[in-house]
Parts: sequence; structure tokens; C-alpha cells
Amino acid sequence: MREFLEIRIGSTRKHLFYTFHKGRSLGSVWLVEMETSSFWFKWTRFLYGILHKLGDVLFYSWQYKRFYSKEEIRNNRFCQITPSRFFEPDGEECGTIYDDSTSCPICGSGAKQLSPLILKRYSIPRADLAMTIADGDEVIVSERFVTMVKEQGLSGMTFLPICSAFKEGHKLKYYQICPVSYVDISSKTVFGINPFDLSGATPARTETRWEKEGRKFKEYKVHHPEKIYKCPNGDNLGLNILSEAYIKSSSIPDGLDFFASRQTVGMREGVIRPRHLLFCSNRMMQLIKEYKLIGFQFELAHVVDE
Ligand SMILES: [Zn+2]
Repeated sequence: MREFLEIRIGSTRKHLFYTFHKGRSLGSVWLVEMETSSFWFKWTRFLYGILHKLGDVLFYSWQYKRFYSKEEIRNNRFCQITPSRFFEPDGEECGTIYDDSTSCPICGSGAKQLSPLILKRYSIPRADLAMTIADGDEVIVSERFVTMVKEQGLSGMTFLPICSAFKEGHKLKYYQICPVSYVDISSKTVFGINPFDLSGATPARTETRWEKEGRKFKEYKVHHPEKIYKCPNGDNLGLNILSEAYIKSSSIPDGLDFFASRQTVGMREGVIRPRHLLFCSNRMMQLIKEYKLIGFQFELAHVVDE
């Protein structure tokens, strides 16, 4: 496996990489890609550390990209599936009802969805797998995907109808995918805020902002409470998954093609909810490719004893 990290930095900072390392302009943003085993990854960690101490941020966003050899793919039992298409408005904004009284008071994981998922048809991307920006369990699949599952006898998932936000009772030609079985994630899996900050929480902080009042600027304070992502109850593991996923072998159900992690990853804020990691069998991944379904990102998932 070859692992790369892609970061997006402000164009004004491109000189930090430009003279040494190839980057690409995306308007006011500069995209830099580096292999995580390279000197540039260490260099980025160093820059991140300095700027972080000064209260500044190095990058706007980051993303890992992992590439596998044919042999690695052929020999692996399970893959992690992540949707590559996201859309809004999310389910809650369209009227989906959640019961937050059942969720963890620390991390907000585990709220129950009480109604069918309600969405606006026009906002759904042309893909066979997609997710709303709210994360959580708002993962949807196309009729083509459901047909493949039935034709090939794939197991481990059920499909719930999705209702239209415009016409009451009208069902869309998409389904919410729900796992029937859950597995435990091993402590070998790395979680954190970003590749250079493995913290499980962000402390409370007060931010100073300025607002224009007539000709003058008035200072005001915004208080951000402490946010806990790595929950002491063990239900939410962190804000982001940073490594490939490691699954505890004892928890893997026999013969299923699809399952999800019992623990969640992410945060609870506004409409955003922690999500379960999704996994499929090697056979299911191969079939998704054969059927030329779109909207899937695959990464190998490893099975370990603890
Ligand atoms: Zn919790």
C-alpha cells in the first residue's frame, strides 16, 4: 500500500512547499500531495506544529489517499466503503425525526431515527451510493445497487424507503442502507482531529470577533464549549479516522457481505451526527466494480485479534 496525504493551503503559503515540492493551484487555494513516508510529511508536521503554537492553521482541509497492488486487493477479505458523493439538504432539515434522548450525553452518538429518511429528490447526486452532509446514518443507495444485491444474493443489509420532502407519503427511487450486524473496531485504528493532531477533544475557548457598528468596529466574544470526540463511554472513537480500519476478528459475523462498526466516528453539532464505518466483503467490492456502480471509495480493512 502506498499512502499519500493531500492538503489544501492558502496560496500565500505555497512558498513553504513550492520551491521544493510540486503543488497545484486551485485559485486562491494551493493543493500539495505528499507520500506519508516522505520527508515532506515530516516537514508538514513541523510547519503544522509551529503554526499551531502561534494559534494559526496550516491547511484548510486534508485527505488521505491509499493505493493498493492487485495482489493486496485480491488477498484481502474486507474493505471499508466510504461514499464519495455528499449532498444537502440533510434529512433533519427535510423533516426526518430523530430522538436525541437515546444518545450519549457526552459525544451525542446513538440517537434513534424515528421516521423514514426524508429528502429532496433534486438534491440527490447521480450516484449509486451517497451521503448527506449530516453524516450519521444518512447513507443512501440507488435501485441499481439494490438490484445487484438481490441478483447476487449479497447479505448483511436491509433497505428502508426514503420519502419525498415535497409529497407526503411519496417514495423516492433510493433507499437508506442499514447494516444488520455490527463489528468492534480495534485500538490499532488511529483516530484524531487531523493527521498531525491525535487529540480526542478540543478544549473550551473564547474567540474575539469584530463587528462593524456605524463607522466603528465593536469587539465581541464568542465562547466555544469543550468538544469531546473520543468518548470515555467508548461509543465514539474520535473526530476522524486517520489510518486504515482494523476490525476485531472475534466480532466479525459469519458469511456476511456487509456490516458496520458498532462504534462511531465524528461529532454531534447542529444537524451533524457521528457515523458508523461501513465494511463489505471482497466479493461485494468486486461486484460493485463489475456492475460499474459509482460513488464508492474503497480501502482495505484489516482483521486483528485485539
Ligand atoms: Zn459517548
